[in-house]
Amino acid sequence: MSGYSVFETDILVIGTGGGVPAALAASEAGADVVIVDKGVFGKSGSTRSSFGMVAGCVIPPDNQDIFFEDMIRGGGYLNNRKLARIFVNEIARGVIFPGLEERGVGFDREDGNLILKKPAGHSYPRCVMASVYNALKIWRVLIRQTLQLNVEVLDEVMVTTLLPIQVE
Ligand SMILES: Cc1cc2nc3c(=O)[nH]c(=O)nc-3n(C[C@H](O)[C@H](O)[C@H](O)COP(=O)(O)OP(=O)(O)OC[C@H]3O[C@@H](n4cnc5c(N)ncnc54)[C@H](O)[C@@H]3O)c2cc1C
Repeated sequence: MSGYSVFETDILVIGTGGGVPAALAASEAGADVVIVDKGVFGKSGSTRSSFGMVAGCVIPPDNQDIFFEDMIRGGGYLNNRKLARIFVNEIARGVIFPGLEERGVGFDREDGNLILKKPAGHSYPRCVMASVYNALKIWRVLIRQTLQLNVEVLDEVMVTTLLPIQVE
């Protein structure tokens, strides 16, 4: 077809932000990954301008059910409950936040201990903060590591339609 390019991939990630760690994880697991973003890769979206506070720890008497309830209440009961449940379970298993530290992101500590904050809506302190190593620096680590992998990036491309096809 003239005027069209055809890309084949295992995983198509539309939008960066949360899409970047998803693309990283998929690529590291061996999948072919294509990222499409309507903006400039690494510069669009709200993730890069966030404050760098990550709800990353569940420490007793806190647990994932309390965290889940906080999240659903905070989301005005509109959340996708299945995704929210995966999120809190992954945090309780220690997957998300230590994963960022392993990637080289530093979070605020005092005498070696993580400083935990309790922002509005949370029943317990469970948020780590990258105030020195702020959100933009977290973002740059993830972007750099994505670019080092075999991830195809198509930026300044807006997705308007998804055409499902039957795969034989
Ligand atoms: C000032 C501020 C501070 C914040 N601080 C924190 C904080 O400290 N901690 C915290 O947890 N949260 C914080 N948040 C909230 C957090 O930043 C967002 O919830 C999160 O970044 C949303 O991620 P996302 O991937 O859904 O969206 P985004 O990061 O906005 O990414 C969406 C991407 O999709 C692309 N896109 C959209 N439509 C299309 C299309 N049709 N085709 C192609 N590409 C498309 C966009 O270009 C964009 O790059 C903050 C938010 C703001 C605004």
